[in-house]
Parts: sequence; C-alpha cells; structure tokens
Amino acid sequence: MIKSLAVLGSTGSIGVQALEVARLHNLKIEALTAGSRVDIIENQIREFSPAVAALADEKAAADLKIRVADTSTKILSGAEGVKECASCGAESVLNSIVGIAGLAPTVAAIEAGSDIALANKETLVAGGKFVMGLAKEKGVNIYPVDSEHSAIFQSLQGCASKKQIKRLILTASGGPFFGKTKKDLEGVTLEQALNHPNWSMGAKITIDSATMMNKGLELIEAAWLFDMEAKDIDIVVHRQSVVHSLVEYVDNSVIAQLGVPDMRIPIQYALTYPDRFESPVRQLDLTEFATLTFEKPDYETFACINLCRRAIEKGGVYPAAVNAANEKANELFRQGKIRFLDIADAVANALEKAPHNDDYSLADVFETDRLIRTQTERLFI
Ligand code: NAD
Ligand code: MG
Repeated sequence: MIKSLAVLGSTGSIGVQALEVARLHNLKIEALTAGSRVDIIENQIREFSPAVAALADEKAAADLKIRVADTSTKILSGAEGVKECASCGAESVLNSIVGIAGLAPTVAAIEAGSDIALANKETLVAGGKFVMGLAKEKGVNIYPVDSEHSAIFQSLQGCASKKQIKRLILTASGGPFFGKTKKDLEGVTLEQALNHPNWSMGAKITIDSATMMNKGLELIEAAWLFDMEAKDIDIVVHRQSVVHSLVEYVDNSVIAQLGVPDMRIPIQYALTYPDRFESPVRQLDLTEFATLTFEKPDYETFACINLCRRAIEKGGVYPAAVNAANEKANELFRQGKIRFLDIADAVANALEKAPHNDDYSLADVFETDRLIRTQTERLFI
C-alpha cells in the first residue's frame, strides 16, 4: 500500500471520503487543496498536518493563511497553488476536484511522477489523449476512483491480454428521472434533479446523473482509461446500483464487480491496489434485494448519452467541447437561469459548433473549453 497521499478537492464529497480511508490506514497526507471552503480545510490541516495546502479562491486562501498561522503547513493560493500542491511528489495524488479545473493539476502530478487516483472524470474526457500519453511516458499509473471504472478495473484483474476483451458494460442508476418522458421533464425543479436515489454526491455530478450526461462522460472516460472504442462500450440501466459494471470476454463470459453503493470501496482500491484491506463499508447482502433489474437506457429522453458517444467517435476536441457546454449549462441550471432540458440542448449545440481538429494540442483543449463556455452562456443570456 502507498504511504503518502495528496488529496485535491479535499473538502468535497469524494475528498472527505478519501481522507476517511487515509485516516483508517494511517496514510501520510502531503498536500490538501480545495476551492474555497476555509472552515473544512482548516480542520483537515489541523488533523493531517500536510506540508502544503492551497485554496483556488485567493481571498479564501488569504483567510486560511491567517487561521492556520500557528501550524507548519504552507498555504498557497489560486490555480497555480493547486498545481504546486499536485506536484508535491506524494506516492499517490487523489484528484477529486470537480470539472475541467482538475485537468492541469492532474498533468502536474503526472509530471512529478506520482501515481494518480482519479475521480475527476472531466480530466480524461477533455484531455484523455494527453493525460494517458504523459502517464505512459512517465511510467505513472492511473487508478480509477469512479465506481464503474473501478468495477471494470477490478473485473480486468487476471485478464491476460487486451485481445480477450470483447465489450465493457457500464451500469447506470438512471438517476431521479428514470422512466420519465421528455414532456415530463419540461418543468422539473433543481430540488427534484438533486434528489438522487442511490448516491450522495456533489451538486454538479448529481445534476449530471439526472441528465445522464454523467454516463456519457463515463463512456468517454472508459474509452481513454481502458483504450477501448466507443462501439465496444455499452450502457445498461441498473436501478439498484449493486452491480457497478462488467467486462465481457471473447468467450462471452462476463465478470462483474458488486457491492453496496459506497465510494469508499473504489477510493480504497485505487490507493491499495493490488492489495485489499478491510473497509468501513457494509457487507452486501444480496437477499436484501428481491430483484436486480437491467434495462436499456432511454436515449431520446436522455439525449446527452449519445451526444457524448458521438463526441468521442468524432475525436479531436469534441469531447472537451461537450464537457465545457455541460459544465456551463449545469451551472446555469443550478443558478436557476435555464431549464433542465436546456442542458442537453447546450451539449448538442457544442457538438455542432466545436472546431474539427484531429491534430490538437493541450492548449487547444483549454481554448475549446473557454470558447464553448462563452458560446453556451450566450445561447441563453
Ligand atoms: P464536490 O463538489 O463535492 O467537491 C469538489 C471539490 O473540488 C471540492 O473540494 C471543491 O472545493 C473543489 N473545487 C471546486 N472548484 C475548484 C477549482 N476551481 N479549483 C480547485 N478545486 C476546486 O464534488 P464530488 O462529488 O466530490 O466530485 C468530485 C469529482 O469526482 C467530479 O469530477 C465527479 O464527477 C467525480 N466523482 C464523484 C463521485 C461521488 O460519489 N461524489 C463519484 C464518481 C466520480
Ligand atoms: Mg460513476
């Protein structure tokens, strides 16, 4: 097991659970970062005594610096400060920042030679080509934290060759609006969209689950992580979130990973691989579930899934574009400025408007992100 860890996004849903796992296994925390939550990170600094910590928000960082002046933790600020923490050289850097803001820190951590425990799926969606390429070049491992990808990673243990994999099957809970028609979704409120049936998560991903954009992003994430074509990745709605995803082999044998829906299992496995240790997660009692169900997604009502599929098939900066449009539209919906169904329209618009560019650089990814965010805002305001 690793001994030292940095947690980026430590005040969020995944970050707090990652620190719970770290506490249980006495991992040395080298660095902590967050956006602006001074109160939470102050407590974390006092408990874990990292050498360095950063807040992306400059004002919040200045406040934090005063509050923890009595500790030995060095406080940095802004996106540069977060990147510096990511480069701290810990054995593993767990990235649970939300959104594209996680991409540059991931790159910085790989450059510094740390293994990556990756929750921040937007990193791979937008910058998959560069992140996977750089990791290979630096001999760095990227371990998935996203539960579906962890399930696939676990189901791949013992696979002798990639040629033996026929298909990846991602399961989806279906979110709070499963079974609804597009008409039903016209007037849904933020509160209804935030009411996820199985998982308690940050606000952005909870809305992504309601639109099922989350599954589209995960399809792209899986394509990069496991070097698979989108056509060989299927999606199945599984309402109970017990089967976390599956791998089908060439002999039609299917291997799945099961467990109660609790992110501390994938978080821990990303830090302890290839070993397993006891965890605080409760045992799975299959008899608690009368039935486990599997159904086809409704691709018409949840248009974002296939928009993402098209984006990765088109390649280039299209995945970065759909991600950017979704991030902006998701935010506007949470601010009460647009309607729920506008999110998918924004994503469709980005797929149409993004520049075609097969020979793209990381700078093009960031430029596309900026451009599509501006365009998305203009669509509605
Ligand atoms: P969250 O909103 O609860 O936490 C996000 C963290 O990122 C916070 O610490 C926040 O302060 C920090 N942050 C926000 N903006 C930042 C910025 N500009 N710069 C630096 N830090 C910033 O989100 P979450 O639910 O923990 O999700 C985090 C990531 O993990 C997302 O990419 C999400 O898709 C992925 N993920 C989450 C879950 C889950 O169960 N929550 C499951 C799978 C994958
Ligand atoms: Mg997931």
